[in-house]
Amino acid sequence: MHEIVINLHMHTRYSDGSGTHKDIAQAAIQNNLDAVIVTDHNVLVQGVEGYYRFARSRVLLLVGQEVHDQDRDPQKNHLLVFNANRDLALLADDPQTLINGVRDAGGICFIAHPKDPEAPAFKETDISWEAWDVQNYTGIELWNGLSELKTVVPTKLHGAFYAFLPQFIGHGPIPETLQRWDDLLTSGRPIVAIGGSDAHALDMHMGPIHRVIFPYEFHFRTVNTHVFIPEPLTGDVPTDKKMIYEALSAGRCFVAYDLPMSTRGFTFKAKGLEQEVIMGEEISVKGGVTLQAHLPTQAEIRLIKDGKQIGVWKKSYAFTYSATEPGVYRVEVHRNYLGKKRGWIYSNPIYVR
Ligand SMILES: [Zn+2]
Ligand SMILES: [Zn+2]
Repeated sequence: MHEIVINLHMHTRYSDGSGTHKDIAQAAIQNNLDAVIVTDHNVLVQGVEGYYRFARSRVLLLVGQEVHDQDRDPQKNHLLVFNANRDLALLADDPQTLINGVRDAGGICFIAHPKDPEAPAFKETDISWEAWDVQNYTGIELWNGLSELKTVVPTKLHGAFYAFLPQFIGHGPIPETLQRWDDLLTSGRPIVAIGGSDAHALDMHMGPIHRVIFPYEFHFRTVNTHVFIPEPLTGDVPTDKKMIYEALSAGRCFVAYDLPMSTRGFTFKAKGLEQEVIMGEEISVKGGVTLQAHLPTQAEIRLIKDGKQIGVWKKSYAFTYSATEPGVYRVEVHRNYLGKKRGWIYSNPIYVR
């Protein structure tokens, strides 16, 4: 398996972002991303997918969309739609109809910012997901860069602080979202977690100050999704697009906060009697299973089974654990950065059956 780094969930001038697709590609190349997925609100922008090249580097830009019912008040239930290859905004008024439409079109979908609290100082309302009775979605956006920002700005002054020092924002997924994911997993549903930046490159005006806050290049160094594909990207758009969406659909990926240090090189595997699998995959418990994780540098590794922490390895590069019971096993890695312990890696689970 080959690891690539993707930033997904972002907006251009086609909805409420300030940049162009070309700006995004350029910022992605500057930050060594392999691919980006642009998701404007309720529009599927045509004709911009493909490889973008600057100097000797290239990045694959893919286009999905973020769909929600604009007539609903408040405008909750945002869904990230990938690989449907047609505009599904017309189905927005019922979340289940929309999800079914994505499936019928051969696409995959993720519940965007499941918990997205209000930020009254900025007149931002709560736009969390409400329709939790839906079925057949691929997964959830476990860590969303913008939802997290809304949790740390009780006043305009806090907003100004973080606008200039955004490196202090990132701590981890919103605890309610993490709990929701564990509950869904424990109830037996294979829910894939992805991390989204929700980059807008917002134009901010405060008196005489005018500044683009949280530019794309900043977001591209923070919450990324690392994806495992069977062979390196080929340069052929349909081939590479298929590999990426198959991996996201299967959960062969992890959510990473790459700002303290790149998480490239992290692995989480399981070895059984006859099989070896990676995150997102299933393995038989028969004869026992050895779980293994490796990190690019030492940090605090936590092993979680069915929503409960069953092991912690401090200042470690790796761990091995013998699993004798079926369950949903996932790994979290935490590390100190700017004086605080922060989430660094959230793996998708290995399903021991
Ligand atoms: Zn949204
Ligand atoms: Zn968004």
